[in-house]
Amino acid sequence: MTVTRFAPSPTGYLHIGNLRTALFNYLIARKTGGQFILRLDDTDRERSRPEYVDGIKTDLDWLGLHWDRVERQSERLDRYAAQAEALRAAGRFYECFETPSELDLKRKKQLNMGRPPVYDRAALALDADARDRLRAEGRQGYWRFRLDHERIEWTDGILGDLSIDAASVSDPVLIRADGQVLYTFASSVDDMDMGITHVVRGADHVTNTATQVQIIAAMGGTPPAFAHHSLLTGAQGEALSKRLGTLSLRDLRAQGVERMALLSLMARLGSSQPVVLAESLDEIAAGFDLSQFGAAPTKFDAADLWPLTRQHIQRLPFAAVADRIAALGVPQDIAPRFWDVMRENIDRLDDLADWWALCRDGATPDIATEDAAFVAQALEMLPPRPWGPETWKDWTGAVKTATGRKGKALFMPLRKALTGRGHGPDMADLMPLLQRAPARQ
Ligand code: GLU
Repeated sequence: MTVTRFAPSPTGYLHIGNLRTALFNYLIARKTGGQFILRLDDTDRERSRPEYVDGIKTDLDWLGLHWDRVERQSERLDRYAAQAEALRAAGRFYECFETPSELDLKRKKQLNMGRPPVYDRAALALDADARDRLRAEGRQGYWRFRLDHERIEWTDGILGDLSIDAASVSDPVLIRADGQVLYTFASSVDDMDMGITHVVRGADHVTNTATQVQIIAAMGGTPPAFAHHSLLTGAQGEALSKRLGTLSLRDLRAQGVERMALLSLMARLGSSQPVVLAESLDEIAAGFDLSQFGAAPTKFDAADLWPLTRQHIQRLPFAAVADRIAALGVPQDIAPRFWDVMRENIDRLDDLADWWALCRDGATPDIATEDAAFVAQALEMLPPRPWGPETWKDWTGAVKTATGRKGKALFMPLRKALTGRGHGPDMADLMPLLQRAPARQ
């Protein structure tokens, strides 16, 4: 059975880049009737926060990316300790004592000599006495995994055949001096223990994958199939990393982006398949094909979410918005009509509130000085409410006859007098919804 996982660290809210990872893993499980696990990578106790855990769950719920179960790394520390012990016994973990500044100095020297800044394994040469002496000096040991210096190869679900020379990678630090288990290790233990079959994640993890393939093998496990999607850039190709905070899913939701717009775009962006607005996650899953994605960075423009959001809204039947419209206080008898008139004229569902306020209370008229006399005369001729579908035509017809105005010069000042806006629904449709006549000018 296919088992995938989405493994955010609860150190912030999910952003558009995280969504891509979550969605791909969800879709792979969904397509094959497999399982999708939400794994919280929360071994960093200082930076992990309960409100981010809640935020992550709220976002995934909103998107409909439902998980089969939640796993928390902070609850699996015993398991990591046991595996660390086994790898120590097998000679794959070794204790190091260099400080960050000593390591930095080593790296600088290597770079100066034109060599890659790979950890030189000096600590491997320390015997028990040397280690004791360093401890007596007050140094605290941390643990690296000793890579086998061979080529690490896998067929990546997106990048194709990859081959990385392990000698070009530093032995990864897996346990810090304070005992904190680092992600690279915890994730390897989890992927093995939880029977993860497929991992899709960002291309920034390719080197991690190389080391994790060896770590999992050293523990006697079989590595999952890996795929690395490209990273998102801004619309001009600029790095998005600093702006990702402003592209959080909760902000996009608050701005009124519709979930199907977001899901439809992110399931196709960066692939050779066209972006089409889907009706459901099932439809997205059916059309999802990881092999269609390319390695090049993927340009993301949040503006692309709006046409899809509008398209989605226009398709919504009244039943889908009935509760929302009722909550605005729109009387039941006109609610379906209100929806029919408004759906083509809004960018986001929140705009309904403004339109209902306008219908209910009337608008502050927008009357140009040169139109004041004309508008005053026209309003004198406005029949009393209630207004029907013919009112606009009848009224403007009579005004035209009385004033000789026609076309835009006739309609636009009257629209602005009634709605305070230069655009919006057809006035013939809107007038029957207006609950108040404008004050005579
Ligand atoms: N917590 C890691 C991250 O957010 C997970 C990466 C992975 O999928 O293995 O980058």
